[in-house]
Amino acid sequence: ENYDLHDQHVNSTLVKVLRTIGFDKVYASAKGSYLYDAEGQDYLDFLSGYGVFNIGRNHPLLAKTIKDVLDLDMSNMVQMDCALLSGLLAEKLVEITPPHLDAVFFCNSGAEAVEGALKFALGATGRNRILSLSGAYHGLTLGALSVTNNGNFQEGFGKLLPGVEQVIYGDLNDLEDKLRQGDVAAFIAEPVQGKGVYFPADDYFPQAQALCRRYGALFIMDEVQTGLGRTGKMWALEHWNLEPDILTVAKALSGGYVPAAAFLTRRDIHQRVFSRLDRCVVHSTTFGRNNLAMACGLATIHVLQHEKLVENAAWAGQIIEQKLLELKANHELIKDVRVKGCMVAIEFGEPRSMKMKLAWKGIHAVDKGLFPQMIVTPMMNKHRVLTHVAGHNLDIVKALPPLVIGETEIHRFISSLDDVLQDCTR
Ligand code: PMP
Repeated sequence: ENYDLHDQHVNSTLVKVLRTIGFDKVYASAKGSYLYDAEGQDYLDFLSGYGVFNIGRNHPLLAKTIKDVLDLDMSNMVQMDCALLSGLLAEKLVEITPPHLDAVFFCNSGAEAVEGALKFALGATGRNRILSLSGAYHGLTLGALSVTNNGNFQEGFGKLLPGVEQVIYGDLNDLEDKLRQGDVAAFIAEPVQGKGVYFPADDYFPQAQALCRRYGALFIMDEVQTGLGRTGKMWALEHWNLEPDILTVAKALSGGYVPAAAFLTRRDIHQRVFSRLDRCVVHSTTFGRNNLAMACGLATIHVLQHEKLVENAAWAGQIIEQKLLELKANHELIKDVRVKGCMVAIEFGEPRSMKMKLAWKGIHAVDKGLFPQMIVTPMMNKHRVLTHVAGHNLDIVKALPPLVIGETEIHRFISSLDDVLQDCTR
């Protein structure tokens, strides 16, 4: 009844309840690159809530913004009105994306942005086929799931969207063959695949985009994970100077506190879709462009720009890559490292030397394939460094640090990984 989060008793009761129901690790607070448990121990957050805390946790400007929105008694969600804050955030997004993207539709999650992008592509072109890449992850609602060609996500959920086909990753001939068959509304791709931090050869995306243009298909870049500085550019598409017809944004957009997402299109796509019927019948979502989400979006982009976090992500990525390559030279279990800014994958393989094969036997209470899941990430957790397992075969340890990390955080991540790999093969 008198629930007050400032009350120490309420807080410690909450921690106890969570522990009783099986959560052994309860984080009580967070700041920047760190989480803190109830005992005040720090945990290095190289997960960032799966890539939402690009500006770090509990940034003071974000906290102030949230308070301000509430204190100002603003009118929120006057549905048929053009809200001021959504206008400002739309303008900002248009300013920081490629110039031809000049229409913005706000929604609430990555999957919802992908749904909107696919729907607008079908509506604007009047075509019926959609192409997506093998290994792709675009979300798990039905339309997004249909273009998610990754692991077992699709199994057991019927036929999903008709007209969706998979294109072999990095294979331009396969893409062209499928485009040539005609009726393709769109080709959707992540610039860097999130599930294993894969990126294709440098000519792939520019040529894929050109092929889409040649066959009249729209090119959709899904930047839900890579956008807003994650890869060391504001948008990963800048690595290849791409000009997609549709761009999806979510995750980091609101700084991590309230859901916020959007997809940007060329204005003519927007107009073609909306000229068909009454506006609300075409596409709408109740909570899209609510004030709190919009204000958080404006604050987040301000922090990214003002604190030069995109540049910092690029700098951090270079150091992390160099240090991981040094580790790879010393630890034969590391098969590959892939880094784009603050998107990091360490792929593990089989032992090669006799010494390592013998050591490997010792740790082989677990299946080889589960090494990252059963050994590396739990041992990293013991060093209080949070990472997660990814990849089609769960053979990758992935890190998505906040873009605010500095030398101290990078050193702790690398030296913990080094210790873990030495310990488990000693
Ligand atoms: N697209 C991409 C590229 C993603 O990485 C994700 C989330 N991991 C999604 C879409 C789905 O986003 P959400 O979980 O917010 O629905």
